[in-house]
Amino acid sequence: MNIILLGPPGAGKGTQAKKIAEYCLIPHISTGDILRENINNNTNLGLKAKSYMSKGELVPDELLITIIKDRLSKKDCSGGFLLDGYPRTIPQADALQMILTESNKKLDVVLNIDVDDEELINRLSGRRMCSCGASYHLIFNPPAKDEICDRCGGKLYQRDDDKAEAIKNRLVVYKKQTQPLIEYYKKKGILQEIDGGKDIQAIFENIKKVLEKYD
Ligand code: ADP
Ligand code: AMP
Repeated sequence: MNIILLGPPGAGKGTQAKKIAEYCLIPHISTGDILRENINNNTNLGLKAKSYMSKGELVPDELLITIIKDRLSKKDCSGGFLLDGYPRTIPQADALQMILTESNKKLDVVLNIDVDDEELINRLSGRRMCSCGASYHLIFNPPAKDEICDRCGGKLYQRDDDKAEAIKNRLVVYKKQTQPLIEYYKKKGILQEIDGGKDIQAIFENIKKVLEKYD
């Protein structure tokens, strides 16, 4: 199945994506993770992306379109994929459409996770990450030991863009540049709304119910 996870920053896309990818046996493609990996490895792409990301701005479309084209051409995407954090603009969505058409593929469903702003701010400000890829929340999804990753024992850290100023900007950027995609995919008849205000497992159960219709 070819799936997009849409939703504002902090909606729980990454959290649900890990579960969906395991359940559907498809790769979880997070453009945020790809960009952060490039920053950590000091690549050219990482250098270009860094200043946009730390301010909570979007990285330019042409860079993202190249990333996604390359990633979707990999063998592991032949049986389906789950996009998390892409597309974030209409030009990115149009480019995706072209990439998929060229390889005789199509999107099956776009899951839009809806969460109110106050809850988004709570989720983003309490998010803590581990370099192994695990993600926690200080209150809603805490590690067993304070500031230590359950999975690898690494020390947890806060993303630069999860600090107050960047969060504010990311929500503004989301409303202006990404929210129009809801209407874009609604018009295509493939949008499914998911109430993201519930707890992590309850949301996943709802998503599974929606996905069963596409089997
Ligand atoms: P996104 O990928 O959409 O930016 P994340 O999946 O990283 O969002 O979730 C943001 C933060 O909120 C993380 O700290 C995560 O543990 C927490 N979180 C995710 N889903 C829920 C939920 N349903 N209820 C409470 N906290 C959640
Ligand atoms: P995320 O991990 O999805 O929250 O993304 C973190 C940051 O990476 C975003 O705030 C953007 O700066 C950048 N980014 C990730 N995906 C995209 C995208 N599709 N288009 C533009 N910028 C992106």
